[in-house]
Amino acid sequence: MKANGDVVPMTLQAALLPDQAAPEHIVVSLADQGESEAARKRARDLQTQLEQVWRLNSLGQMAATLAHELNQPLTAAAVYLHAGHADVVRSGPLGDSAGRNLDLAKTQILRAGEIIRRMRDLIATGSRSFSREHVQSMIDDLSPVFSLISRDSDVPIRCEIDADDLVVADRVQVQQALTNLVRNAVDAVGGQSGGAVAVTGRSFGVEGYELTVEDNGPGIPEAERAHVFQPMATTKSGGMGLGLSVTRAIVESHGGQLIVGRSAQGGAAFSFRLPRTLEAAAA
Ligand code: ADP
Repeated sequence: MKANGDVVPMTLQAALLPDQAAPEHIVVSLADQGESEAARKRARDLQTQLEQVWRLNSLGQMAATLAHELNQPLTAAAVYLHAGHADVVRSGPLGDSAGRNLDLAKTQILRAGEIIRRMRDLIATGSRSFSREHVQSMIDDLSPVFSLISRDSDVPIRCEIDADDLVVADRVQVQQALTNLVRNAVDAVGGQSGGAVAVTGRSFGVEGYELTVEDNGPGIPEAERAHVFQPMATTKSGGMGLGLSVTRAIVESHGGQLIVGRSAQGGAAFSFRLPRTLEAAAA
């Protein structure tokens, strides 16, 4: 053991000298195995990282294939919904509500195609398409998605967005990041009575605009906070452990950082800032 209390792995070898040169003596050697132990650990860590890169690479290819394969049926479904909408509207006022729902379904189908396409681009090339966006409008677009998540899980999702919300962002990617965080937050409070999720937007002037998704679930212990961002890290039986790593990639491609902490409600709080200018996004 070292003076600082660290245990040093050692090997001890004992041998007789050859040819009975000194039969009353044996040779004892003591070797410090610390170095080779550390080298073995480094090799194991490297192997794990390589496996992750390989899996992510395969995921990139899978995303590209999926985007290609799903594009056609999604487009066809959108065209049928469009035709159905026209038929229903022709049937008069009775068809109004059905027509509105068909229209909403069509919007979501088109969004699904766009998400898959952008995800493929992000994984394959890290590309994004920035424009000037109002955060409130990005959130308004997501409201049918949030309503569905909320209805299925019976968890209320409250959104409170400060004005002064003009940012530079890849609209679809930021919406994807928010959806991932909201889904995780809802999963975290699932089955808990009084579970609730909040999405808040706060202006920091020229410094950017901060979005936070928080819940009142069990939270994430400090020691595990770095680990949850690793690809394939999941505690859910059906989870893939990709939501947070994709979300972090999206946030970082906007020049920001995805930060996890404890929410004032007791659960987890994930926040990130969106830039105000293209220069800040590229920083
Ligand atoms: P998945 O949702 O497929 O597990 P993620 O990368 O999105 O993958 O999340 C990784 C893990 O981080 C989750 O399995 C969960 O253990 C933890 N986690 C994420 N968000 C929260 C949250 N809001 N509260 C508690 N734990 C969370």
